[in-house]
Amino acid sequence: MSDIYRIAIDGPSGAGKSTIAKAVAARLGIDYIDTGAMYRAVGYKVKQSGIDPDDAEALDKMLADTDIDFTEGRILLDGKDVGDVIRTNEISMMASVVSAKAPVRAKLVEIQRAMGTRKSIIMDGRDIGTNVLKDAEYKIYLTASAEERADRRYKELVEKGEKVDYDQILEDIKQRDYNDMTRELNPLCKAEDAVELDTTGMGIEEVINAVLDIVK
Ligand code: C5P
Repeated sequence: MSDIYRIAIDGPSGAGKSTIAKAVAARLGIDYIDTGAMYRAVGYKVKQSGIDPDDAEALDKMLADTDIDFTEGRILLDGKDVGDVIRTNEISMMASVVSAKAPVRAKLVEIQRAMGTRKSIIMDGRDIGTNVLKDAEYKIYLTASAEERADRRYKELVEKGEKVDYDQILEDIKQRDYNDMTRELNPLCKAEDAVELDTTGMGIEEVINAVLDIVK
C-alpha cells in the first residue's frame, strides 16, 4: 500500500483555489500543482505565436513543439518560467478559449495525471475531481459569488499595478464561468463526491482551516 494521497480542488475563476491550495500544501508538506497555470501557459504561447486558436492544424503543430511543466511552484513553458506574464486578464481569457480545445486538454491532462502518481499532491483546476484525478482521496469544490470573486481579482490586479475596470472584470468572470461550465469537454462542475465550500464572506485563514478539517 502506498501512502500517497491526492487532494483535488475545483471551482470557478477567482474562488481562491490557488491561494488556498498553496497554503494547505505548505501546511501538509505536500506539492501544489496549479493546472490553471498550465492552460494559461498554452494561452500565452498561442497569443505570442499569433496563431488562431480555432485553426486546428496550427494549434496541433504548436502543441507538438511545446513543453509544459509545473515544478517546485513554477510554471515552465519550453523550459522558461512564465509565471510573471500569464496572470493578465488578456491571458485569462485566452486560457479559457484554448482550454476548450481537445488536443490542449489531452496534452495537459496526461501530464497532470502522471504528476498525481508520484507523490502526495494538492491540485487545483476545473476538472480535477471529475476527470484528472477521479479517484482522488479528497475532493473539494470551492466557490463564491461572482461579485466577490470579481472584487478579489480586481484587488489582486490593482496591487500588481494593472489598470483595470471592476465592471469589466465582473463581466469577464461571468464569461469565463459560462465558457468553463458549458464547454463540451470536461466542463466545470462539482464532482458528486466533492465537498462544496462557499467562501463568500469568509477570510483566507477560515477557508484554509475548513479545507484542513475535510482532509484530516
Ligand atoms: O485557474 P485559472 O484561472 O488560472 O485557469 C485559467 C483557465 O484555464 C480557466 O478559465 C479554465 O478555462 C482553464 N482551466 C481548465 N481546466 C483546469 C484548469 C484551468 O479548463 N483544470
